[in-house]
Amino acid sequence: MADIHVKHLLIGGGLASANCARWLREAGGEGEILLVGREPEPPYNRPPCSKGYLQGKESREETWFRPNDWWEEQRVDLRTRTSVMKLDTAARAATLSSKEVVSYDTALLATGANVRRLNVEGAELEGIHYLRALGNADHIRADADGKNVVLIGGSYIGCEVAASLTASDHASCQIVMQEAVTLERGFGATAGRWLQDRLEEHGIVVHGEDALERFEGADGRVTHVVTKNGKRLEADCVVIGAGVMPDTMLARAAGLQLDDERGGVLCDAQLRTSAPGVWAAGDVCSYDSRPNGRRIRVEHWDVAFNHGKTVALNMLGQEVEHDVVPYFFSDLADWASLEYVGPAQGWEREIVRGSLEEGAFSVWYLSGGRVEGALSVGRSDDLEHARRLIASRAELGDRADALGDRDADLAAL
Ligand SMILES: Cc1cc2nc3c(=O)[nH]c(=O)nc-3n(C[C@H](O)[C@H](O)[C@H](O)COP(=O)(O)OP(=O)(O)OC[C@H]3O[C@@H](n4cnc5c(N)ncnc54)[C@H](O)[C@@H]3O)c2cc1C
Repeated sequence: MADIHVKHLLIGGGLASANCARWLREAGGEGEILLVGREPEPPYNRPPCSKGYLQGKESREETWFRPNDWWEEQRVDLRTRTSVMKLDTAARAATLSSKEVVSYDTALLATGANVRRLNVEGAELEGIHYLRALGNADHIRADADGKNVVLIGGSYIGCEVAASLTASDHASCQIVMQEAVTLERGFGATAGRWLQDRLEEHGIVVHGEDALERFEGADGRVTHVVTKNGKRLEADCVVIGAGVMPDTMLARAAGLQLDDERGGVLCDAQLRTSAPGVWAAGDVCSYDSRPNGRRIRVEHWDVAFNHGKTVALNMLGQEVEHDVVPYFFSDLADWASLEYVGPAQGWEREIVRGSLEEGAFSVWYLSGGRVEGALSVGRSDDLEHARRLIASRAELGDRADALGDRDADLAAL
């Protein structure tokens, strides 16, 4: 017997669930909404954790999805510090850590992702951090103050944290990474080089084509990072940005189909899971993306946000496909802002439009003559064309050369 019955059960206290709750009301849903999240905080935006919040420019409240009283106004029962321990999709019921059993008509699984932990010698030493939540950002800011910080990983977490700590005079930073240039895996060597130059001109030292071997410490605290190439870097504080793993624990135990290749919960184009009445969204959702023409799983803010809306509409019976081309943004302090649409899964050709020297350019990633992704620094308007070209799946052939000619009209492509 259930203790509570709700129309909509939203599992996970992150952005995807929060925006789903919002859209359930905006689209006219009147039924009970219960949003269950493990963290102590109401739903908040994670991007400031490596940017404004880490720099001390943004308050905790400013990161929140909505102010505290909004949830009550919208008649959303928000349970923080509460986990969903068990999901029985046949009975359409969930058991909470409070021991209450909740029955539902529709459920959203938006359990997000957890950081990938590195198990090397010395990994247990104090002063070694990961960054996923506001609490992690608090610890990093306090611990990094005035110190030598080593960032492990050259992707956006490592780069953004290095930029934020340097720009706010908190620390002097070095990055150790496997890539030859920062952010290369997602955005290629040209954009990666340009972004690395921005870090280096502010004094950040980047060690590329290397990797973490082990940590050394004294009195239980980290003192050095030793790399595979034999470098021994002074480190009073370390931040590891080695990617995330979708949190499929609950979904797996509930017997939902998973995507073994990409990780995450297997969903169709409407974001429906294999269980009737259950959708997935955000970092945990592997879905059939119509505009990209293939299955994808994306760990971006905008994707979680828009997934939440699609699921809300579908919970209300609209049966819409998720048709938004994934978008990503990143800031290296106030030195550089990048935006990206895609994701390109691998590409044969990169075309630069605009000027790297002037810091206003876009990079276009093509495979088989089709645009698969595009990055912009200071040329946001280009991304509108990129979205259209990605979704059209048009083979451009020789016409692709126009992408590199800043006087050519992209609307004509
Ligand atoms: C530091 C940082 C900076 C970022 N910067 C950017 C950026 O600049 N641009 C960008 O596009 N993206 C960025 N991202 C990524 C973006 O924030 C994520 O893609 C987004 O937060 C995913 O939202 P989500 O709702 O799917 O998952 P999450 O935000 O992970 O939320 C899931 C929540 O569910 C909870 N949960 C899990 N299991 C249960 C359970 N069984 N019961 C109850 N609760 C549970 C988790 O504790 C978590 O609070 C950043 C991420 C981080 C960590």
